[in-house]
Amino acid sequence: RCHVKSFLKRNWLLIATVASVILGIGLGVLVREHTSLSNLHKQYFGFPGEVLMRMLKLVILPLIVSSMITGVAALDSEVSGRIGLRAVFYYFTTTIIAVVLGILLVTTIKPGVSQDADHIDRAGITPNVTTVDTLLDLVRNMFPENIVQACFQQYKTQRKELTPPQAPPATTTFPSLPTIMATVAQNLTQIDYKIEGGYTNGINVLGLIVFCVVFGLVIGKMGERGRILLEFFDALNEATMRLVQIIMCYMPVGILFLIAAKIIEVDNWEIFRKMGLYMVTVLSGLAIHSMVFLPLIYFVFVRKNPYTFALGMAQALVTALMIASSSATLPITFRCAEENNRIDKRITRFVLPVGATINMDGTALYEAVAAIFIAQLNNMQLDVGQIVTISITATVASIGAAGVPNAGLVTMVIVLTAVGLPASDVTLIVAVDWLIDRFRTMINVLGDAYGAGIVEKLSRRELERMDVTSDVDVANPF
Ligand code: ASP
Repeated sequence: RCHVKSFLKRNWLLIATVASVILGIGLGVLVREHTSLSNLHKQYFGFPGEVLMRMLKLVILPLIVSSMITGVAALDSEVSGRIGLRAVFYYFTTTIIAVVLGILLVTTIKPGVSQDADHIDRAGITPNVTTVDTLLDLVRNMFPENIVQACFQQYKTQRKELTPPQAPPATTTFPSLPTIMATVAQNLTQIDYKIEGGYTNGINVLGLIVFCVVFGLVIGKMGERGRILLEFFDALNEATMRLVQIIMCYMPVGILFLIAAKIIEVDNWEIFRKMGLYMVTVLSGLAIHSMVFLPLIYFVFVRKNPYTFALGMAQALVTALMIASSSATLPITFRCAEENNRIDKRITRFVLPVGATINMDGTALYEAVAAIFIAQLNNMQLDVGQIVTISITATVASIGAAGVPNAGLVTMVIVLTAVGLPASDVTLIVAVDWLIDRFRTMINVLGDAYGAGIVEKLSRRELERMDVTSDVDVANPF
């Protein structure tokens, strides 16, 4: 009895959240079946959910700024450099693994081969795609001209010229390596798409991250003089986390209405049957990546039970599934990683915001599967060069996607145009994207968390050395 009581006490929020998901689905189905709400009433119905989203987004800015600055300032520059490299190496390898897994699955299951594009309803919208050069814009965003403006400036493309995409030449025989390389190079220069380059809800997150890393390093080196700033940001961080705690109490209510409103809103359920095989391909890829590959990598490095770790992240995973945004889930990811999985704050503060912005395994896998699915629908045979192009662009597209709902769908256009598919074909997969988005976001968040656990383990020695040599308790400097 005592065990049950303490389990309930420790996990009441998670239990309440899961219960509200189930209740929300039930409520949604009930309302859908028995009433027909006008659009205005649907909006009113979703209002408590809207409030939750607003609250979560509200804390993103103070959370990212305070956690990055204090996280970096608590480490010495050499250590933070090494930790940063480890994190980037992990992000990159796991993203590539996800892409390759996606490609293997979609070329084996072939979800688009038995049907063709005309038999699927094209959603009646054409995405509003303007052209930018991904990488350059990404780098531009890293260096905002005005740090205050970076906190509320909407993304604007800065590229001036466009190069219209051209279909790559058809190859009939197996191409040689130089030909493959040439196709890849040619395709990559034809990338035309809109990318949000690390923007989230009007915040240039990438720019802020770069600024905060350097600012934190500088403060860390200032000694006594820098202490007042460090204390300020540390207090800001603590206050923000307390706000998160309050928001979490409202979460079950918000989530109940979010999911119920979504179920009432979706008007085309038939599409799920038509797109069934495509969804099965993406979802099984996500399942294999999150239940086999990521846990395996975690186990190899950390030697602890990866599933217990994933369970510790459950609250963040359910949140991600419900709100489809890694950035808005970030506050909860922090709490789960620090409170349940006890990852050192110097690591989480430093690597989680970066992970939420650039590390998206789920999105990368989805980009690769969706692009090849669309090629299959168009009866297009992809050669090796084009498959390699898809892997590279899917990786870039996942890095460039902001941590907001449907961001991956927008950056999908890079992958399509790079292999000569019409950008407007993303409309073929729009109708089911709201559901797939939630699952890929969940995997994005899980990947970030495993990454923090692995980087912590690999950096153990440095962290311990700092604990010994430092005169302040760096994990908890004040
Ligand atoms: N919604 C995803 C995320 O926030 C990005 C995507 O659309 O793939 O992680």
